[in-house]
Amino acid sequence: MDGEMMWALLYHGHPELRLEKIPLPEVDSASVRIRPLAVGIDGTDAHVLAGEFPIDYPRVIGHEVAGVVDQVGDGVINLREGDLVCIEPHKYCGLCRYCRTGREHLCLDKKAFGFHLEGGLAEAMVVPERVAYLLPGGIDPEIGCLTEPVSCCIHGMDQLETVSGMGLLIFGAGSAGCILIKLAKLVGLTPIVVVEPQSERREMAYLFGADDVVDPSDGEWKNKAQGLTKNADFDFVIDAVGSSQVLEDALSITARGARVLVFGVAPPNDVSRVNPYQIFRKELSIIGSAINPFTFHRAVELLSSLGLEHLAIRKFALDEYNAAFGGLGRGGKVVITPQVMSTTRRKDGDYRKTKDCEPPR
Ligand SMILES: [Zn+2]
Repeated sequence: MDGEMMWALLYHGHPELRLEKIPLPEVDSASVRIRPLAVGIDGTDAHVLAGEFPIDYPRVIGHEVAGVVDQVGDGVINLREGDLVCIEPHKYCGLCRYCRTGREHLCLDKKAFGFHLEGGLAEAMVVPERVAYLLPGGIDPEIGCLTEPVSCCIHGMDQLETVSGMGLLIFGAGSAGCILIKLAKLVGLTPIVVVEPQSERREMAYLFGADDVVDPSDGEWKNKAQGLTKNADFDFVIDAVGSSQVLEDALSITARGARVLVFGVAPPNDVSRVNPYQIFRKELSIIGSAINPFTFHRAVELLSSLGLEHLAIRKFALDEYNAAFGGLGRGGKVVITPQVMSTTRRKDGDYRKTKDCEPPR
């Protein structure tokens, strides 16, 4: 099918995003082509659009992807046409000292689909079979595309090395914050207290199992949070926001021996003030968590147990990308459906398939 074209959402450098027709990609021997059905967008995508994370462009963005396999290379072993899969969106060099010491997520030449390689906000995407994971039967693609954030949260929990029966404070109840609340609940952290300024997100935090939620605009929030631990402060603290101020607040409410996880993605030039004496005296640990090393399989296994339907998923057609990105930062999760276009150019109220659409003028 030489010359076949497809719709794709391409980043052209800050702040430009364009819906365009580009050639439909073909598989090679070890790869599969998928038709993305649901692609989640998150703060990392927003950082790219804001010009805060430089990437090569033009680039098809989208890294939280679930879709159906529609073409398989002749060397593909496990997958078949029609399989519903999610994509672990990274490619590692396999040659650097990090790859060769079992820490490939720290690879010096890491490439991510949707950032350095073509992502999922398109009618089709080609990936190596090794990064495509079969989803459980009957799962909704909108839930399936959340495997990526779930896998990152599982790595975060691994990094935190939690101990059941001890307290956790989480800053931020966005979708990742909510997944972390649920994972913390599953491993027996108690109490789980959340700090979140938006009322919609505070409600969501309760749905995912928070014991209490405080509003940081309330001048008493710290006292209220401490009161819930019998004034013992927190043994585990997670920054699921990504900000210098949150890290400072997090360090200020730690118990002795506490572990503080920096999970949210802060702007690259954001800088915190920390007190080394307190870190010494209280024997604090400040831990990072980057992406999802070997946690994707576990994320697929856990996917149905996390209550992800409570995330209030808001769906947008491929050509509604401006509205979709505009909706980031509010409660819930934003998902784009790359196989459909919006109703705006159609009168009967139904979505239409991208393949029935003409290029925009
Ligand atoms: Zn490497």
